[in-house]
Amino acid sequence: MSNTTERAAVDGALAPDDAEAFRAKCQAFLQDNHRPAADVNFEWNKEFLARSSGAGLAGITYPREFGGAGLTLAHDKIWREEKSGYAAQDGEFIISHGMCLPMLAEYGTDAQRQQFLPDMIAGRTLWCQMFSEPGAGSDVASLQSKADLDGDEWVINGQKVWTTLAHKSDYGLVVVRTDPDQVKHRGISMFILDMKAPGVEIRPIHQIDGGSHFNEVFFNDVRIPKDWLVGETNTGWRLATSMLMYERVAIGSGGAGKVTQPTFDSLVELARANGAIENAVVRDQLMQLYCMESTKSMVAMRTRADMKAGKTPGPGGSLGKLMGSNIAWCYRAIALEIAGVGSIAWDSTVSGGSLLNRQVLNSFQSGIAGGTDEIQRNIIGERVLGLPREPAVDTMVPFRELKVGTQRS
Ligand SMILES: Cc1cc2nc3c(=O)[nH]c(=O)nc-3n(C[C@H](O)[C@H](O)[C@H](O)COP(=O)(O)OP(=O)(O)OC[C@H]3O[C@@H](n4cnc5c(N)ncnc54)[C@H](O)[C@@H]3O)c2cc1C
Repeated sequence: MSNTTERAAVDGALAPDDAEAFRAKCQAFLQDNHRPAADVNFEWNKEFLARSSGAGLAGITYPREFGGAGLTLAHDKIWREEKSGYAAQDGEFIISHGMCLPMLAEYGTDAQRQQFLPDMIAGRTLWCQMFSEPGAGSDVASLQSKADLDGDEWVINGQKVWTTLAHKSDYGLVVVRTDPDQVKHRGISMFILDMKAPGVEIRPIHQIDGGSHFNEVFFNDVRIPKDWLVGETNTGWRLATSMLMYERVAIGSGGAGKVTQPTFDSLVELARANGAIENAVVRDQLMQLYCMESTKSMVAMRTRADMKAGKTPGPGGSLGKLMGSNIAWCYRAIALEIAGVGSIAWDSTVSGGSLLNRQVLNSFQSGIAGGTDEIQRNIIGERVLGLPREPAVDTMVPFRELKVGTQRS
């Protein structure tokens, strides 16, 4: 199945009565099956997806034979519109569903889709993304983890870092080097990896808020079946680029059902409660935030509309991603103005602090995860605005000869 062909082919104008009936079904389901943000956790994410799947509301545009609902992109739009009125109920599945699912659907073999998609869509399995390494973050193509073919199996060795939710994941998509004699952007392949396989060691990274959402992942002679290769051998860079675009859309265009201002809403509530709303500077900052969030929603809707028209997401996804990061920084500045030190410090008896504390701390990662702000600006400059490309001196040299990562001696 290809996103651009088959998924577009199932799309079409939805008769007004059918659209209304479907909207009513979504509304009734969400009314009965949502929890306030503070009560949403990983177990509820899974339960929500199981219930969505049972109601024919999971994997809306994916074929029924692969566990989806087999509906159109018009249905998907309605579902997103209705969901955007509630706190995210399945937030920990953003990588699973926003990135790994479209990748396997687009590039996986039929056997891979049959084996993995139904459980992934229904939330029975969680997936993670293993790209970054200690010496390969912004420049992922410098990755050194490798896979060697041994009979009917690939043997993987190396290390990844910052792997979100690796400790809860059942599977992951990993990019590793399969031919170091090729230049760095070639000679990379993508594989499906069983996170519970012998030789996979997951070490949590401890965060300042007491949580532990991402990890170091070590591979020590991890053996995976030959047919868990995604796409062709040594074409992993093209797949990685495609997955990064899905990532930027997932992060920057989440929801994307209608124009919303979720962080503005939460801060207005706080400012009203503690009287800060009387301060003209605060009101001015809040209006700036309102405008930024409204604009981001509209950019996100345009990105989703492109996808609805059958286009694979392009570099424009970086706009939403960058804007999300700017909004998070703006949110932090206003939260500090409204709540003072209470926005970032909390009583040590309260584990992890309040939702406000976590959002303020979380704002620091928004300009790093999924590609830094500088990288998004490079992408927008080069591929959206058509500015000259950044000079690259290592694109014609075999990877083996490059001084990257631990290859510096
Ligand atoms: C919360 C969080 C979750 C993450 N989850 C995952 C995950 O699930 N899977 C995964 O694979 N990775 C994950 N990452 C890793 C993330 O993708 C990288 O941290 C990110 O790409 C930056 O890489 P780096 O940390 O190595 O920084 P570096 O690449 O070393 O960058 C350091 C600084 O240099 C700047 N810089 C680098 N190159 C350029 C350039 N060409 N032009 C201008 N400036 C440049 C950067 O903008 C940055 O300010 C996560 C990161 C975070 C913070």
